[in-house]
Amino acid sequence: MTRVGLGVDVHRIEPGRPCWVAGLHWPDEPAGPVGHSDGDVAAHAVCDALLSAAGLGDLGAVFGTDRPEWAGASGVALLGETARLVRAASFTIANASVQVIGVRPRVGSRRDEAQAVLSDAIGAPVSVSGTTTDGLGLTGRGEGLAAVATALLLQ
Ligand code: MG
Repeated sequence: MTRVGLGVDVHRIEPGRPCWVAGLHWPDEPAGPVGHSDGDVAAHAVCDALLSAAGLGDLGAVFGTDRPEWAGASGVALLGETARLVRAASFTIANASVQVIGVRPRVGSRRDEAQAVLSDAIGAPVSVSGTTTDGLGLTGRGEGLAAVATALLLQ
């Protein structure tokens, strides 16, 4: 049996915050996600896609208040634990795909690096792409970053 899953994430960005996207630090970016965690929208979206495909709920349910040790964990660390949970539920991860929506950073400029980090985190191929919204909406105005991801599992 194959099972597909979908994940979406959005984080507000503010000037002066460290920018983590797609498992990478982007040191030249003037703004980064606000929040306790690294706010990596791509990693979080892939986590939700994996959990969705496995029928395990979502990030909030799996890493919520009853697991305080995961508060503030990096996106890559969350991906590793998510992949472990998915495999513990008897699934094989076939692949995942994530698209980052925003003006900056341009994920395509470091696509190979991002794909390597995310693929290593879940032990399966992850494709990374980017797009903009023609200047419209919160991502177009540079107020936030968004990502949408899919994942395919085998059982
Ligand atoms: Mg998030």
